Amino acid sequence: MSRVYNFSAGPAVLPEEVLKEAADEMLDYRGTGMSVMEMSHRSKAYDTIIKEAEADLRELMKIPDNYKVLFLQGGASQQFAMIPMNLMKNGVADYIVTGQWAKKAYQEACLFGKANKIASSEDKTFSYIPDCSDLPISEDADYVYICENNTIYGTKFKTLPDTKGKTLVADVSSCFLSEPVDVTKYGVIYGGVQKNIGPAGVVIVIIREDLITDDVLPGTPTMLKYKTHADNDSLYNTPPAYGIYICGKVFKWLKQKGGLEKMKEYNEKKAKILYDFLDESKLFKGTVRKEDRSLMNVPFVTGSEELDARFVKEAKEAGFENLKGHRTVGGMRASIYNAMPIEGVEKLVEFMKKFEEANA
Ligand SMILES: *Cc1c(COP(=O)(O)O)cnc(C)c1O
Repeated sequence: MSRVYNFSAGPAVLPEEVLKEAADEMLDYRGTGMSVMEMSHRSKAYDTIIKEAEADLRELMKIPDNYKVLFLQGGASQQFAMIPMNLMKNGVADYIVTGQWAKKAYQEACLFGKANKIASSEDKTFSYIPDCSDLPISEDADYVYICENNTIYGTKFKTLPDTKGKTLVADVSSCFLSEPVDVTKYGVIYGGVQKNIGPAGVVIVIIREDLITDDVLPGTPTMLKYKTHADNDSLYNTPPAYGIYICGKVFKWLKQKGGLEKMKEYNEKKAKILYDFLDESKLFKGTVRKEDRSLMNVPFVTGSEELDARFVKEAKEAGFENLKGHRTVGGMRASIYNAMPIEGVEKLVEFMKKFEEANA
């Protein structure tokens, strides 16, 4: 068996310890004689799995009691619709557009009401986070929406926008559990787990209880109401049971690693290795304004499409997978999520140095 260094933006690298444990439990989950995949979601064994997963996530993120944790399906993209359907009581919401995912969320919200684009960084290919200290927040806005870490462009909000008292909704798909967060600053925090937590198929929604009501847009399907899932502890219908089980293992792995403070330290150390090299390199350049750099997704270019393509190809041959940038940006992108070991980044930088010498 040989494992590569997988720099994919998602689905992405998972901790080896978690994969091994899941493999050990594949045929017989703790004496049940069956795999978690084969288990009723209403069984006692599964009840423990989902309850422990929630409890561990609450502990990691210090989620207050007045927030619900929901394990849903449909990906982060389904939340683009669920958020306006459930929260647009006045039919108005403000969107800060800092990348493709925020833009898609904004466009989706336009289907349901008046969505206002109150700030954007599209003028410079989303390479920075706009100043959000004094935005024209709409008086009747039901919420203000951000994508906190922009997976494709490699930017991250280092300070949250001043929403002037309005509810903040954040897509944290690609920075979920990468550092501590103050949950009380948000009305809704959500993310697809396939970037930094688990296998594709689960989306986690952390939502303040007062936002969960029956007062949703007319025609909202039962399955797309937060209340349906909140009232049934994420078991209204069959949840993505196996995916939640793996997420639960990752939560335990994170706790064992010392929690989110420790993850933040580790992620900062890891990202610094790559950013420091990009800043001194004569060939490779980071594409993001320095103060807005993400700890999770690091896009870079050589300035030549031909060299970019050769780099990606040679890197793959050397065991560094998925370094090609997103199709809308080009160049390269290294996603260095929680489960990417520091050695992976050190070795990548060594390889980049050699490539630079060879192509000087
Ligand atoms: C990947 C990603 C999405 C889309 O996730 P799906 O689960 O494929 O719908 C949305 N937002 C962000 C920030 C992402 O990184």
